[in-house]
Amino acid sequence: MIKISCEMCMDLIPLVRDGIASPDSCQAVRQHIETCPQCRELFDGTVPPAADNQQALEQLRRKAQLFSAMLLMFGILFGLGLTSSSGLFYNIIIMPLIGAVGYFIFHWKALYLVPGLLLGTHLLTNALGLIRGVEHLDLPSLLLWNVLYCIFALIGTIIAGLLHFALRKEP
Ligand SMILES: [Zn+2]
Repeated sequence: MIKISCEMCMDLIPLVRDGIASPDSCQAVRQHIETCPQCRELFDGTVPPAADNQQALEQLRRKAQLFSAMLLMFGILFGLGLTSSSGLFYNIIIMPLIGAVGYFIFHWKALYLVPGLLLGTHLLTNALGLIRGVEHLDLPSLLLWNVLYCIFALIGTIIAGLLHFALRKEP
């Protein structure tokens, strides 16, 4: 009688089911599943061995969100940096994109989180003079620009949200 571990049993189960395992392996698996309910469930096919897939998918989702968060912060800093430059009008595109990326990360919470991030980052970078073009704005004009940016970002968030909603409704 050959004793095998659960890991080994799980490795062998597909081979045994496909009929390509050696007689020894078959016997070992059959002996193991007699005493191990977990492996028996796997052998009977009642538990799909998809737990790993689920985990990988979750990991991928987290990575995508981390990447989006970095993209969001970069977009905000880049967009704000354009405020006093000739590239200012790119913000008509950049701000809605920021809003859309915000929706991907925060869903509908992006409606207040993205404007919050925009205003917070703007005030902070303005006070510290962190990026060229952002420093030395007086508060009224900073707020005016920020309100405009937030409106554009909100449009992006709403469009992304509606698209998500529309696409999810499809079968
Ligand atoms: Zn087992």
